[in-house]
This record gives sequence, structure tokens and C-alpha cells, in this order.
Amino acid sequence: MSQNVVYTDNNATTMVAPEVVEAMMPFFSQLYGNASSMHFFGGQIKKYVDDARGKVAALINADPAEIIFTSCGTESDNAAIRGILAAQPEKRHIITSRVEHPAVKNVFQHLGKNGYRVSEISVDRLGRIDLDELREKLDHETALVSIMWANNETGVIFPIQEIAELVKSRGAVFHTDAVQAAGKVSIDLHKTPVDLLSISGHKLHAPKGIGVLYLRKGVHCVPFMMGGHQESGRRAGTENVPYIVGLGRACELAHEFMSVEQREVARLRDLLESELTEKAIDASVNGDTEHRLPNTANISFKYIEGESILMLLSEVGIAASSGSACTSGSLEPSHVLRAMGIPFTRVHGSVRFSLSRYNTQDDMHFIVQHMLRIEKRLRDISPFGRDEINAH
Ligand code: PLP
Repeated sequence: MSQNVVYTDNNATTMVAPEVVEAMMPFFSQLYGNASSMHFFGGQIKKYVDDARGKVAALINADPAEIIFTSCGTESDNAAIRGILAAQPEKRHIITSRVEHPAVKNVFQHLGKNGYRVSEISVDRLGRIDLDELREKLDHETALVSIMWANNETGVIFPIQEIAELVKSRGAVFHTDAVQAAGKVSIDLHKTPVDLLSISGHKLHAPKGIGVLYLRKGVHCVPFMMGGHQESGRRAGTENVPYIVGLGRACELAHEFMSVEQREVARLRDLLESELTEKAIDASVNGDTEHRLPNTANISFKYIEGESILMLLSEVGIAASSGSACTSGSLEPSHVLRAMGIPFTRVHGSVRFSLSRYNTQDDMHFIVQHMLRIEKRLRDISPFGRDEINAH
């Protein structure tokens, strides 16, 4: 981690890994041909794109032909949802969860206003999906179910194997937003019958502006972007070769580091959580601590403002978040924590620390030291100070 910055907002975006930068460099000023060109200069590029496609496929145990490069996770989500519905216009029922990222949530909201019947599946207090509700809501009109692999705010992992098997047994198409899961947990699409899956490069140490849509062979999805014949006619637009190469390298690194990260990053996350919950006046962890990403800690400090905590953390060089990156900037309380039934007094005081392999134990101690100071300071000026905490 660079000096004076303790970066713990990796669910918002990650640092591009030095190995990824190195892999990308030749494709800006030396190997800059168009992969679709007939001449040797462009023609030689295609093999690098294919090589990256293979590396992405290997991360999720898919066939390289099932990998479509896009510009970001949001595009992948939109392309999946809209493309599947365009392919079966007669079916008008769609299902999602209450805790999706806006890249899915807002598309469903829009579809709900445009003639689709939308069902939203609830989560419990720990952020776990209600599978019985999903079983009940699936019917013969259901075209598509879109449920995320892991939640960006709490890190809670959904039982995608069971969900995918259930959805497939009822004849609907299943899409999962795996933007937060890819590279952090093992994904095996030979085993898990997901039809479509979204990935975003900048969440796994590749640059912003590159994503992937996995589309299972045989699943009909109308292309979202129309134009040239790139990506076998499934996503038009000249390939972003440097970023595709970078993403391939990032997936290779994620694969290589996954088991170490699962152990080491989780150890740092657990250290941070236990120190804060033991030493703070009132801090509690949100979400299912058994089934979650190794890097995410969502902690509520009751009766104090998450936004104020973030500003004070920021003053000493600690970057964290109080919700998903896309909703920060608005003071709307997190729809994820609200769906879990967390009381407002805790939702407003929630902070998300999301770690990466670049964090250290010293980073955790630094955060704990400042977080405890900040909590005390904010409680001293809060109308709901320590007395209320003691009284409850
Ligand atoms: N889905 C999830 C779960 C996310 O966390 C994000 C980004 O925060 C996205 C989708 C959107 O990805 P992108 O920023 O690449 O559009």
C-alpha cells in the first residue's frame, strides 16, 4: 500500500496490479492493431485476445467461447437481463432479490414500469436469501431470475448452486451478478448451472472500463450492442485489447492467489472485526459471518453517522465506504441493510471496510486505533452519546 493511504474500499474499486499494468503496456504503443484487421499487424493481435479469453474462462471453469468482453459490470448486467427478455418476449415475469446492486435493481425497476411483473425475494436479518420464497414465486411465466453471487455491501454469499438448480428445474433462465465474487471465491460453471454471469475488471485488480458477460452455450440472448461482428456478433465495438489483456492477467493472478487470499485477507478482516467489536463502545457486524467474502467487513456503530466516520477516517488517510460506491454521495440509507431489517440507528452508522491482498496487519491496527478515537469523539458530540448506549 502506498505511503499515507490505507485503502480499504476494494469493493468500490481496486488498485491495478503492477503485473497487470506491465502486461497491458505493449498494447498501447507497439501492438496497437485492430484485432479484426486482415493484415498481419492487426491479425497478430487476435491471439492475445484469445489468450486472455482463455484465462478469464479458466477462472470460472467455462469454455472460452462462452466469454464475451464488455465495458463494465453494469453493461454485462444490462446486456444479460435485456438480452434474455428480448429473446423470449412472451414471458413477462422476472425475479430478483431485494439486495441487488443498482446495475440490476434499477433495470428491474425500469422493466416493472414497462409491463413486466417483478418479484423481489427477501433476505433475513443476516442478509440470507429466502429460498422458499423463490420456490413459491417461480411460475410458468417466469422468463428470468437474476440474483447476485455475493453482496457488495455485506459480502454475504448466496447459495448459487441451489438457486441455479431450482431456477433451471422450473424452466427459467438464471443470471448472476458475480462482480464481487469473481476472483475472491471459487466459481465452477461446469458444476453450477448458471446461464449468464457478470464480471467487472476493476473489482479484481484490472482497470476500470472492462467487463465480461459469460453466456452459456445454447442460451439465446439478443445482443445489447449492435454494430460490427466482434465477439462473434454478440457484442459489437472494437475490442479494447490492452484492457482485455490486462483482465486476462488479473484473472490469472486471482486464480493463483485465491487460496492464500481466502486465508490471509480473511485473517486481517477477522482481526479488524474482533478488535473493533471488542474495544468500541457499540459496534456490531452486519451480515452472515459464515457465508461471506473473505475481504468484506460491514460494521455498524450505533447512533453515530457513517458519513462523519468516513470523513474523519479520510482525514488520516483511511479510505472506506458507507455503502456501495454508486450510492455514496446520496444520503439515502443502504437498501441492503434496510432489506435485512437492521434498525435505522445502526444503518446510519454503518461502515464497510473491504480489503485486498495489498493490505497488511499494520493497516488493520492503524484503522482500529483511529476508529476507536473517532467513535469516542463522535459520541462525545452526539445527542445520543454513551448514556443511551448503556441504557439499551
Ligand atoms: N454489480 C456489483 C455487485 C457491484 O458491486 C458493482 C460495482 O460496484 C457493479 C455491479 C457495477 O460494476 P461496474 O462498476 O463495472 O459497472
